[in-house]
Amino acid sequence: MTETCEAIVLGRRNFSETSLILTLFTRELGRVDCLAKGCRRASSQMRGHFDLFNREEVLLWPRPRNGLDLATDSLIVTEYMRLRKDFRAFAAAALAGEILSIACQKHDPHENAYDVFLNYLEELNRGGDVIFLALKFLLEVLPPLGYAPQLHNCANCGKELKAEEKTQLSGKDGGLICAGCAGGAGKFLPQEATRMLREISSPEQSAADKKMPKRLLMALLDYIQYNLARELRSAKVFSRLAG
Ligand SMILES: [Zn+2]
Repeated sequence: MTETCEAIVLGRRNFSETSLILTLFTRELGRVDCLAKGCRRASSQMRGHFDLFNREEVLLWPRPRNGLDLATDSLIVTEYMRLRKDFRAFAAAALAGEILSIACQKHDPHENAYDVFLNYLEELNRGGDVIFLALKFLLEVLPPLGYAPQLHNCANCGKELKAEEKTQLSGKDGGLICAGCAGGAGKFLPQEATRMLREISSPEQSAADKKMPKRLLMALLDYIQYNLARELRSAKVFSRLAG
């Protein structure tokens, strides 16, 4: 019957004068598309809830055979206030939200990706460097979503890559490729990219240099867009803002 889920609001739109259609990313059920009936009424317990990227405990009535589940009650756990004032932080969160809503299927839980996302929102809310945090988020979230880029061997020929080797990030091949496989085409990453990508994606990442070139982030966004076979609207906004 009903199920209590911890959720982050990824999307919201008006359904009627009093109701909202929501896209939630929940720890328990993965992506949930639901209707919050009457939540915009003055008398509703849920009035003022479901702002973008809020963390809430939502009482859900999953309806697997119908299009939309029902959200019948909720409790706000955290409102990330900085995201409402700092448009760069908001754009960084929106980028993550768009990737998760495309990469995650309905009712297919991704608990690790949920935790990575939650941690990312907390760090954005604390005012961290948005480019570094977005890059770290992507490197941490791609493995649980099944899109981990290969960073240690050439994703095409399998040759071991040295930390300072000239490489390209290839969405088609699924990771870094060596100069030999890249041929003359495409853009090479900065010389230190291989080492940096490995450091940021490893658990000892705190030692990593936080002055990440934006180019690494852009390369990773191309990589994910290739894998999702989608152009991300939020990637365009974010790259302009992150300028
Ligand atoms: Zn190669």
